[in-house]
Amino acid sequence: MHTSSTELFDRACRVIPGGVNSPVRAFGGVGGVPIFFEEAHGVMLVDADGNRYVDYVGSWGPFILGHANENVVAALRNQLERATSFGAPTRLEVEMAELLTGLLPGLEMVRLVSSGTEATMSAVRVARGYTGREKIIKFEGCYHGHGDSFLIKAGSGMLTHGAPNSPGVTAGTAASTLVAEYNNIESVRELFTSNAGEIAAAIIEPIAGNMGVVPATPAFLAELRSLCTAHGAVLIFDEVMTGFRVALGGAAALYDIQPDLVTLGKIIGGGLPAAAYGGRREIMNLVSPVGSVYQAGTLSGNPLAVAAGLATLRTLQQENPYPALERAAGLLATGLKEAAAECSVPLTVNQTGSMLTPFFTSGPVRTFRDAMSSDTSAFARFFHAMLDRGFYLPPSQYEAWFVAVPHTDNVIDATLAAAKAAFASHAAENG
Ligand SMILES: *Cc1c(COP(=O)(O)O)cnc(C)c1O
Repeated sequence: MHTSSTELFDRACRVIPGGVNSPVRAFGGVGGVPIFFEEAHGVMLVDADGNRYVDYVGSWGPFILGHANENVVAALRNQLERATSFGAPTRLEVEMAELLTGLLPGLEMVRLVSSGTEATMSAVRVARGYTGREKIIKFEGCYHGHGDSFLIKAGSGMLTHGAPNSPGVTAGTAASTLVAEYNNIESVRELFTSNAGEIAAAIIEPIAGNMGVVPATPAFLAELRSLCTAHGAVLIFDEVMTGFRVALGGAAALYDIQPDLVTLGKIIGGGLPAAAYGGRREIMNLVSPVGSVYQAGTLSGNPLAVAAGLATLRTLQQENPYPALERAAGLLATGLKEAAAECSVPLTVNQTGSMLTPFFTSGPVRTFRDAMSSDTSAFARFFHAMLDRGFYLPPSQYEAWFVAVPHTDNVIDATLAAAKAAFASHAAENG
């Protein structure tokens, strides 16, 4: 049934570390052989053996419109015929920057890069340049890409693979990263007090998605904003996942809180490598060549990636799918809770907009510690029971599921029917 995937994985393991080009793709958290894919249309995936699956990963977030959306494909075809890269300025980049600054609260200037990792690394560099300070605050369970400063108590693949701090990160770098508890403002206040005048920035996922979905409370984010202002620290919202996902204006619009800098990725590349960082003009004017904080990229603002991103953002702007996405994700969240309850499986579902995570714990899940109380082996069994039924979920308890426009009510119903069967087989095994 997975003959080709198994064969490809064997070959991959000989020449690629772990057989994958990003750790979250391995089935480390759930066991078994990762599926190798060949095609995707809407939310339907086809693997190397011709098996079909309903996709709730969406390439980890970009595909809010589903795969191969017609506007995105048309924009890519059109651009492909013209040019794929110049290493020189293009009209598309100007249009993208104008669109982004028009849509995101407080975004006055923006720089395009190629990955979320680059965006967060650069944002922190600019914040350090701006404040002349070295230390940063991050939150336990938040993931900001694989920059050295962030590989301290990070979420996502770091959680799944049980490596809280990565070898290769120098002690000096680790010492400049202070870690606070998500949704615990006292833990932030203490760090600001004990490191007075030394903190350049606080960086946060305003809705965490990389320890599973854990939204910040509005009061916590508002107090974080005030603390940063009071201490002259730059507040960075890492909206690589939430930007254009939870609302057209991202989490900043949803919570009505303006960060000083924001990082974007995933959706703004429409499935190709594009990301961005930006914010207040006064800070962004420090970026070279205007200012002295260096940051560059051979493929930054790549025409193909920007064309796919622009087509995605314009479609989102025109169609405003957010209410419908939220409704569909709500149906899924409620249905999963009910199905689990019927089988006496403890389950807490956190959902914001079209992002959700069913945690195998009685909950509530408001912090990293809460998330860690989940029964990961129960998740692994559920994951495989769903995979067998043709549903491709993120292969880890600590990841977000993404609902996309092509997840119609019929698809949600089919998902819930499969989930019921999966929970029932789970209960039978335990009973
Ligand atoms: C995915 C993600 C990143 C990293 O982006 P890459 O493009 O994988 O480098 C950073 N921050 C958040 C919140 C993310 O979800």
